[in-house]
Order: sequence, then C-alpha cells, then structure tokens
Amino acid sequence: MNVDFERCQSSNVVEPLGDDVRSLLGMPATDLDQIVNLCKRRGFVYPSAEIYGGFRSTYDYGPLGSLLLRNVKDAWVRAMVQQRDDVVLIDAAILGPPEVWQASGHLANFSDPLVDCTECKTRHRQDKLDDPNTCPNCGAIGSFTEARQFNLMFKTQAGPVADAGADAYLRPETAQGMFTNFASVLQTSRKRPPFGIAQVGKSFRNEITPQNWIFRTREFEQMELEFFVPPADGPSWYEYWCQHRLEWYRDLGIPDSMLRLRAHDDDELSHYSTGTADVEFMFPWGWDELEGIAQRTDYDLTQHAQHSGERLDYFDQATNERYVPYVIEPAAGATRTMAAFLLAAYDEEKVNDEVRTVLRLHPRLAPYKIAVLPLSKKETLTPLAQEVRRLVSDRYMTDYDETQAIGRRYRRQDEIGTPLCVTVDFDSLDDKAVTVRDRDSMEQTRVPIDQLLGELSGRLGF
Ligand SMILES: [Zn+2]
Repeated sequence: MNVDFERCQSSNVVEPLGDDVRSLLGMPATDLDQIVNLCKRRGFVYPSAEIYGGFRSTYDYGPLGSLLLRNVKDAWVRAMVQQRDDVVLIDAAILGPPEVWQASGHLANFSDPLVDCTECKTRHRQDKLDDPNTCPNCGAIGSFTEARQFNLMFKTQAGPVADAGADAYLRPETAQGMFTNFASVLQTSRKRPPFGIAQVGKSFRNEITPQNWIFRTREFEQMELEFFVPPADGPSWYEYWCQHRLEWYRDLGIPDSMLRLRAHDDDELSHYSTGTADVEFMFPWGWDELEGIAQRTDYDLTQHAQHSGERLDYFDQATNERYVPYVIEPAAGATRTMAAFLLAAYDEEKVNDEVRTVLRLHPRLAPYKIAVLPLSKKETLTPLAQEVRRLVSDRYMTDYDETQAIGRRYRRQDEIGTPLCVTVDFDSLDDKAVTVRDRDSMEQTRVPIDQLLGELSGRLGF
C-alpha cells in the first residue's frame, strides 16, 4: 500500500494534541506521522515536485533535511574512513555499462516476480502476497496472471543514438564501484589486505512497492564499505564489523531498546554468502533493516575478473602467495538511517502545562549546532548579534533568528534539534557576555563573548 505520499499531502495541518499523543510524552516517536508532519512543517523533507501534484514516493530534502542527511553521511565517513588507517574513500559514477551488471549478476537476477490481477488490473509482487491466489485489492480468487520477472534497474541510454550499444544503467548499489576500482585503488593507495574501500552516494531501484516515507524509495542514498581480507580472516572480520557497526548507531544516540543485530537464516542467504546480519531499528511498523553486513567471499572480484579479463587479486610478498581477497560488506542506507535518527530523537515533554517538542539529536547530527538569537530586533542590538553570529558560524552551522518572542524561538530551535542557543540581550552591550541555553536541560549560563567558542566546543564535544 502506497500511503506515504498521501500522508505528506495532508500534513501541513497542525493537529491539536490529543490524548493519544499525550500518552507518548517522554518517549521516542512511535507514529510515523509525528515525524512526517514535523519534517514537512519545519523544512526537513518535502514531497518532490509538489507544485505539480508530487512525484510518487520521491522526496526532496529541505534546508534542515539536507543538513541532517549530510551530517549522517559525514558521521559515517568520519567513523569509517577518517578515524581509521585501513579504509579509503571513492566516488564512482552512477551511470554504468551493461557489462558491469552482467558480471555482478544484476541483469540476470535483480528482479521481483510480478503478477497482474485480471479483475481489477492492479499489479502486485507475488512474493509479498499474503495469499498467492487472492488479490489484496479486489478480493478476486485465481485472478492473477503468470508471474513475470521485473528487473529493478533503471535503464537509460548514453549518447544521442538509441541503439543497443548505447544502453546504460543507473547503479542499483554503490558496491560495484569498489570492485571495478579494486586494482586501481590497490595500486594507488598503497593499502594491502586487510583494507577497505568506502563510498557514499545515490543508488536507484525501480521498487514496485516503495513505502514508509523515506524508508523505501526508488532514489536513495547508500553508505557502503567493501573490506578486503585474506580468506582465512573472513569470519573474524565479519564479527568485528557487525559489532563495530552496531556501536556506530549507539554512539550517535539510538537507544539499545530500538536497535538489534539479526543474523539471517540459511534460506535468506545469497548463494555465495557465508553469513549475513542486519542491523535493525524498531520503526513504527516494526523491526526493519538499517544496514546489512555480509560475508561475500571472493564472489564479486572473481566475477569481475572473469568478465573483464583483468587480474583482480593480491600478491602477498611476505608469504609469496597470490589470492583473491574475501569481502566483508557493511552496507547502510543513509536516508532510512536519517529517518531512524529522527524517530529516536523525537520527544515531547510537559513544561509549565505546555507540551515541548524536542528533537534530541546528537550534536554531530543536528542540522544547526548553534542558534544566535538577539533578544530584540532593535537596531542597538543587531551589530553585536551579527558579530556573535559571524564568530560562531565560522566554526559551526548556525541559525540566526530575530523575530517572535524569545520563548517561541527557543521552542522552534528545540523542535529542529539545535543543541545550543546563544542569546544576545541589552546587558550584552555593557558586559560583553551572552546567555548560552541548553536544548535538553533548558539551563541558561552567562558566558563572556571572548570565551564563547571554547564554551560551545566543550559542550558540543567538538
Ligand atoms: Zn484484483
């Protein structure tokens, strides 16, 4: 059921808080609508092409969402590349020739079985039907056509001539870029197994049933690592990456109760995989995948070596051995991870008989780290407030807001997850100090402007 777009259409109406919402006070969001509404109202995520009625299950990331999504990807690159000495980053092309997808197996196997209902003319994924003989739309029994395989890759043409030689595909995963560049990276980076190649970028899958807002969309963003190891070390590195990846989500604020690692059953495994586990998040619709960690053996490099005729292996001079490395692949979805962080961070609490909505985002993820708020719009305050803004924005993504009562501006920053507000008031003109207000505790502290950056950095942790 494709309800996500309709959800967004009606979401600019701010509903009064009912009893069902009040019962959630002090808890992460359990209703997707809470987040979808907030995201549309505050400029995180909009339905794409909305002035033309929207484009199915496609979303645009607004002023705050684009910052949040970028911060999610930056946090991944920081943990996976910057803080290690054994992983390098690449950025491969989205367009690729059929040869790549032939070798990877996507042309032959990356498909879903589709059936049409001859009664109501709706199309369904056969493997997702509760009852393979009953149409979930009209209830007709035995009305389905034979299943046809539907390839999920977007096909297009490169160049002005539409012949078969011009066929190209939008990548359905970033991973193949790491395999096709394996030899070049090995040669130019001076790395040797165990080492990894990481990539963050867009992928495209022509999903038959995109669903659950930005969780499953046809255009999405991935954060993938291919980690190449000597074959005997595969199992221990697999264990390592499972734990390491789980930690990453924890470190950025997802509580243990909403996170789990689930090993795949044997019948879920690809034929070449010797073990796969999913990092799962407790979404409003139940446990669902944020990331898969797979042992892919030497399947991918061997396939590309056979199809390309190039040698894709490693010669270990210490042991005088030549081998095709085994691969451990932690593959995460950036956009669905962003949704998980939003859901986990969402909180409502009662303050002075009013409900305060707070996004308790980790400071690294928060779109704005700091908001500079002059107490009043009076001209006497503006020069100093702007000076403070320039000082802070040189180091941190900073919002500047000078209209409305200060209490309402604090609430607005709480709702978009800004960890710290800096208020410039009339006393500031004399004492050269400002008030720093904490999002979570709402505590306020007076800080001299010449010590402000140190104070902010100490509180944010960076
Ligand atoms: Zn039907």
